[in-house]
Formats: sequence, C-alpha cells, structure tokens
Amino acid sequence: MCYNTDMKYDFDVIIIGGGASGIVCAVECARNKRVALIDAGDKIGKKILVSGNGRCNLSNKAMGAEHYNSEFVAPILARYDCQKVRDKLLEYGLVTKSEEGRIYPYSESATAVLNVFLSMLRRRGVSVMTKTLATKIVPEIDGWKVVTDQGDYRCAKVVLATGSKATFGVESYGLVEHLGIPTTLLRPTLVALKSKSVKGANGVRAKVESYVEIDGKAYPKYRGEYLFKDGAISGVLALIMSSHVARASRRSYDRCSLHIDFVPDMTTRQLARYIIDTYDPRGVMLEGLLHKTISANIMEHVAMDKSLIMSDVKANAIAAVCKDYVAEIDGTLGLSLAQAVCGGLSLDCFDERTLESKTNRGLYATGEVLDVDGECGGYNIHWAIASALAVAEDIDA
Ligand SMILES: Cc1cc2nc3c(=O)[nH]c(=O)nc-3n(C[C@H](O)[C@H](O)[C@H](O)COP(=O)(O)OP(=O)(O)OC[C@H]3O[C@@H](n4cnc5c(N)ncnc54)[C@H](O)[C@@H]3O)c2cc1C
Repeated sequence: MCYNTDMKYDFDVIIIGGGASGIVCAVECARNKRVALIDAGDKIGKKILVSGNGRCNLSNKAMGAEHYNSEFVAPILARYDCQKVRDKLLEYGLVTKSEEGRIYPYSESATAVLNVFLSMLRRRGVSVMTKTLATKIVPEIDGWKVVTDQGDYRCAKVVLATGSKATFGVESYGLVEHLGIPTTLLRPTLVALKSKSVKGANGVRAKVESYVEIDGKAYPKYRGEYLFKDGAISGVLALIMSSHVARASRRSYDRCSLHIDFVPDMTTRQLARYIIDTYDPRGVMLEGLLHKTISANIMEHVAMDKSLIMSDVKANAIAAVCKDYVAEIDGTLGLSLAQAVCGGLSLDCFDERTLESKTNRGLYATGEVLDVDGECGGYNIHWAIASALAVAEDIDA
C-alpha cells in the first residue's frame, strides 16, 4: 500500500534507537515510507554484535509467553513465532540454523546479522543518523516533533526503540514520561547471581540440574552449566535463574536459594552405593566424580560424625547433599554486567496487538524499552524483532 507522503513532515516515520528492534522496524516501514533511524551512538546495532558471545542467539523454537515476564507478549508472539521471524530474516538474506532449539545465524556470526541489517537499511533507503541523541518527543496537531541534539525533525509517527542500559547503552525512558507513560522498577536480569555459598571454586564449571526457590516457591528445574566465581555464580544456567530472581526482586523477596543437583545422572541410592564402594579414609571424598573444590563444599554441608568408618547413614547423607546442595543467593550483579533489564515502559499504556500508546496516537514502543524481559535463549532478540514487525504492520495499515 502506498503511503500518503506529506511534505510538512521531514519523515513519515522516525525511529529512535538503532538496535535490533529499531533496525527491523525501519526496514519494514521503509517499504513505502520516508523513514529516519536515529541513534545516539557512533554506530548502530552495537548490542547485536555482543549478543550470544558473538554468535547472536536470535530466537528459540520453544516460543511462548511463558518464557517472558508477562502475558502481554502473547498476541504478538502468536503472529510472529520463531518460524515467522526466521522467514523474515531469510527474506533479508540471513540464513539461520537451530541448535537444541536455539536459533543462530548459519554463519554463527553476529557480525553477519548486523551486516545483513545494514544492507537492508541501505536497500530500503532509510536515513540513518548516528551521534544524534533524541532529547524530547513533542506531540503536534497531526504528528510529532523529535527534538535532538542535532536539530528537530517532524514526522507523522514516532517509534521509541531505545532499549535499555544493560551492559552499555543509553537510558531513555524519560522521553515519554511527560506523555503520561511511567517506567516500572528496573532490575538487572540475565546476569550472574551473588552468592558466597560455594567457596574456593573460582573458575570451576559444573554441569548440573538446578532450580531456584524464592520465598518458599520453587521455580522450574533446568539442566545446564554453572561457572563458579568468587562471590558469584555465573554461566548460562545462572542467567536462566536470574530471570526469576530479577522479577522477584521487584517485589522485594526475603529469601532466595539455588538448589543444585551436582550428579543429575545418578539417583541418591546409586550415589550412596558409589560412595561406599570407593571410600578411602585417606583419599578425597567424591574425587572420581566431582571437582575437588565442589566435593569440599559438599562435605562442609554434611552433618556427620568424624569417625573414619563409612556407614550407609553417612553415605546417604553425603549423597543427599550432592543431589540437593543449597546455595544462598544475595541478589544479582549490576546492570553493567547484565544482558537485559527487567522493567521498562509500563505495558498498561500500550495496545498489546499494535504497541501503539493508548493515549498518544502515532507513538509506538518496541523491543527492550518496554517492560518485557525474556529468558536466556534468544527470547529478547526475538521480542525485539517480533515487536518491530507488529509496529511496522500497524503503521502500514
Ligand atoms: C552481552 C549481551 C549478550 C546478549 N545476548 C543475547 C542473545 O544471545 N539472545 C538474545 O535474545 N538476547 C541477547 N541479549 C539481549 C538483546 O541483545 C537485547 O535485548 C536486544 O538487542 C534489545 O534490542 P533493542 O533494539 O530493543 O535495544 P538496544 O539494542 O539496546 O538498542 C537501543 C538503541 O537505542 C539507542 N538510544 C537509546 N536512547 C536514545 C536516544 N535518546 N536517542 C537516540 N538513540 C538512543 C542506543 O544507542 C541503542 O543503539 C544480549 C545482551 C547483551 C548485553
């Protein structure tokens, strides 16, 4: 459909923020409109480059609202599921592949993702303005004025795709505060957890099964890897757990602990048998099974008599701690070390199908700037892209 371009505007659409969400939104809107993409940084797409350790985990086959903080995402995920997003990326020229359900670029290169996006912006004739900080969004009679440190621009529709401050970035929630759109409490998420419960194991990795318990509520169990550090637990599994901790910290939880099964491939009984069969009073307990610092921590948690004789009772007590080691969690590390932010622009203010502001027609928000946070596994970039597609579709309607 051809848009009725009006020269009283500098652009039909201005998108503030050149992350994954803003870029995709710009590419889609630019099929038949004059689009500007403005970004405060010297380059766009910086977060894409660091995503997934440089491999950029783009989406996940197990897509659904249960992997996010809110049901709000459901209508958009139903329209733009994993396959739709992969099809769209293929249309741009980016081939993807699946690895245990996680979607990556076929080249396993985040640079390739950004280069394909940059090529699409050029092919669609988007005006990309870097080193341009938006400082105010002003509603006008039939459109918007975007005030920047490089001058003012008028447009019919404006899209806020300013992301979050996680790791690096500019925090711009204030751009819409005067329009009656509040920001919810912000917390780091997809981040290492603070804990002093596993001592002396800096740099040790363990493949475990684990769940987090917060104020007596047990969250789902996952298998994966923890990386123990001084005063913190990191690794992909810790990032998964941190989603629950971040969301709970917005309602000020009291108690939080990780339950860790260090030997998920053996039952407690099999483990107790192994302990009895391999017991050497002068050797290191569990050395043939676990890293010695992990066994030392486990043994510290076992309440038993100090006699050198191994009994069924002792073996069962050791096995029980191996299967359910409890690490107290004292919170998360900070925003500069987090992959995303839990919190953002209040979802009450946006239409869940179009992401248009309910009270400010022609103003949209996409991606991480909204109070939407997904689990570790490609859910945040999926939301960045899916929400951008939904906004572009509404702007085109
Ligand atoms: C280290 C790391 C690894 C990650 N790995 C993954 C992963 O593998 N899979 C996954 O799904 N997610 C991952 N994430 C999260 C994911 O990258 C983000 O959720 C997603 O990229 C957010 O996209 P966005 O477009 O909404 O925002 P952003 O990428 O944050 O982009 C926002 C842009 O807006 C600009 N901006 C802000 N304010 C203004 C303003 N006032 N004026 C002009 N410009 C402004 C910023 O400069 C920025 O370029 C990772 C994040 C990090 C930090």
